Amino acid sequence: MDKSLLRTYSFILINLIIVMLVSPLVLPNTSIHSNNITAVCKNFICDFEREKYRAALNSDMGSITIIFDDGFESQYSEGYNLMKEYNIVGNIAVIPTRVGKENYMTLKQLSDLYLNGWDIVNHTYNHESLNSLSYKQQFIQIIGAKIWLKIRGFNNDDVLVFPSGMNSEITFDVLKKYKFKAARGLYGFWTISPNARQGDVVICNLTDEVPPQKATNLINEAIFNKEHYIFIIHKVEDGYDAEHMKYSIDDFKVIVNYINSKKDYIQVLSISELLALFN
Ligand SMILES: [Zn+2]
Repeated sequence: MDKSLLRTYSFILINLIIVMLVSPLVLPNTSIHSNNITAVCKNFICDFEREKYRAALNSDMGSITIIFDDGFESQYSEGYNLMKEYNIVGNIAVIPTRVGKENYMTLKQLSDLYLNGWDIVNHTYNHESLNSLSYKQQFIQIIGAKIWLKIRGFNNDDVLVFPSGMNSEITFDVLKKYKFKAARGLYGFWTISPNARQGDVVICNLTDEVPPQKATNLINEAIFNKEHYIFIIHKVEDGYDAEHMKYSIDDFKVIVNYINSKKDYIQVLSISELLALFN
């Protein structure tokens, strides 16, 4: 075959692959589409930028890890907006099929967080409760999301957050087989690290029923007992929803300000940093 024709075919093929990888959901909208391509390329090319945000790990100090579940838009517009002022990093447990949908973050926003030191972790492909699924179904959910993250340049694909905190023995079979490093429910944190003991990590789910003073008291406990606390949060929004997922902006601000005031006594870690601390 003619060389220039071969080059043209290769060029078209590579671009087609990028298009397919980047967006099964937004094909008709070319501006979102090109934003997604740019975001994915940046994740791969600028991964080194995450190093700027790496915490100097201190094993004699307690830690706080903030995990936002589901990838709601207010986690970016309100949560990140408050946290970046103090260079506090968080983590997003992302559901691939909801990225870019109404009230959820876009790929570009996730990429922005990732390159600012946040971890983007696996929350399964479309958030089905794992405890009622067969091995094959759990494999599709967990490994489907892992591949989705991997081909978009998000490198924390080996940490799973169980949808609605649900799991079964099968879940752990999948996690072990595919060498996941850690998993989190609503009450427990599982890790393969031999240095992490059961109960080392305390979890607090920030529903609208948890006043910020309770969170600041827990931060004090983490400081004094040198313990590791994970705060789970869903929406940083005012108002009420039946699932108690909205944490008011002012209440979240109280927590963020308090963390910042205690920065000399407590470290704020991404999940990958917390795991590095245990290793
Ligand atoms: Zn969830």
